[in-house]
Amino acid sequence: MSVSTALVVGGGITGSVLALALAQRGVEVDLAEISPRWHGVGHGITVQGNALAALAKVGVLDEVLRRGVPFNQVRMLRADGSLLAEVPTPRTGGPGLPATLGALRSDLQAVLCDRVYQAGVRVRLGLTVTALAQDSHRAYVQFSDGSSGRYDLVAGADGIRSATRALLGIGTAPQPSGMTIWRVVAERPAELDCAELYYGGPRYKAGYSPISADRCYAYVLDEDDPLAGPLADPGGRPAWQLMYERSAGYGGTWGKIRATIGPDSDVSHTRIEWLLVDDPWYRGRAIVVGDAAHACPPLIAQGAAMCAEDAVVLAELVTGPEPLGRALAAFMARRRPRVRAVVQTSLQLVRWEMDLEPHTDQDVAAAMDGTLAFLAGSEA
Ligand SMILES: Cc1cc2nc3c(=O)[nH]c(=O)nc-3n(C[C@H](O)[C@H](O)[C@H](O)COP(=O)(O)OP(=O)(O)OC[C@H]3O[C@@H](n4cnc5c(N)ncnc54)[C@H](O)[C@@H]3O)c2cc1C
Repeated sequence: MSVSTALVVGGGITGSVLALALAQRGVEVDLAEISPRWHGVGHGITVQGNALAALAKVGVLDEVLRRGVPFNQVRMLRADGSLLAEVPTPRTGGPGLPATLGALRSDLQAVLCDRVYQAGVRVRLGLTVTALAQDSHRAYVQFSDGSSGRYDLVAGADGIRSATRALLGIGTAPQPSGMTIWRVVAERPAELDCAELYYGGPRYKAGYSPISADRCYAYVLDEDDPLAGPLADPGGRPAWQLMYERSAGYGGTWGKIRATIGPDSDVSHTRIEWLLVDDPWYRGRAIVVGDAAHACPPLIAQGAAMCAEDAVVLAELVTGPEPLGRALAAFMARRRPRVRAVVQTSLQLVRWEMDLEPHTDQDVAAAMDGTLAFLAGSEA
């Protein structure tokens, strides 16, 4: 085994699954998380079967399923809430797993945090890496508290604005997609049993998913003006009020959820960015994975799946019989086609959603189904 010690930088989905998978394979793992409090943000997430398959590999699936809401179909609605179609979602994790799981991000992260501690990972909070050097035997790391460490492998899982990526000299930067997203966690209406998407309304798209017995996660995909800088309302109105206004025109269940948005609602407005680092994503014995290497607009809800898959595949290959250089090259060969397909399809869907290119509903369905079928039919 070429890796006996590893540093994982960042404790989101990617870093947590990676630290866990490495520790389960006998690697001594340090995890450095910049936040002094290690917890997921409060929003919802819709993860697909191939993400669940990766979570199963590190033994957290049962607990994640227990907290979330599985479903196997998506309903498409008109803006007034009337039904256009209900279609089964391809089972990208195989026939034995739900097609989709709606979950609260903080629930998912809590399960991962518990297991990472239980696996014996040395978690160091409020810490980041300030310098990184390598020779042919080790990577040498300086931390922000003045301490240092030496490792067989350093994995930057520190998200789309990865500092590790910069330390590796990789200059790829996040790009605006042209869209923003309003998100709120709200009470789950009784009739809500799967993801629903609204077509033809006043914004690009609106939708929601159930995420627990009594909560749902609702969103509106909206316009962006990247030149305007940070998202803020010039009039100083609170985010909940703006989301309430921007979601006007959606009826049905969205209308019911909208009526509950108020001053106590936890609303966020986020610019949707994307990024794809040219491969390889590694330099010597240091690599970036997850959103640090690739991030896509969430239009096919595959971001977390690509992250979790990166993590289990990297752990598997660097603890196998091959020397590290070959293991990392094999990692790129496994991950490149899947990640590229997801990023490219997501960006195509954005262009169509924004009417930047002519398209039909059949084009959209074929792009989504084709990508999910490819993921279902190929090895992670
Ligand atoms: C609006 C939106 C909606 C989305 N919805 C979905 C969805 O429904 N389904 C889906 O599958 N995907 C979705 N995604 C994508 C998915 O959320 C991401 O792909 C995934 O969460 C990325 O995980 P990560 O661990 O790689 O990065 P992150 O979640 O960004 O985690 C990075 C971690 O590193 C830490 N960190 C940052 N910098 C440093 C540093 N310098 N040193 C140490 N630690 C550091 C951070 O505090 C954080 O804990 C969505 C993304 C967005 C933006």
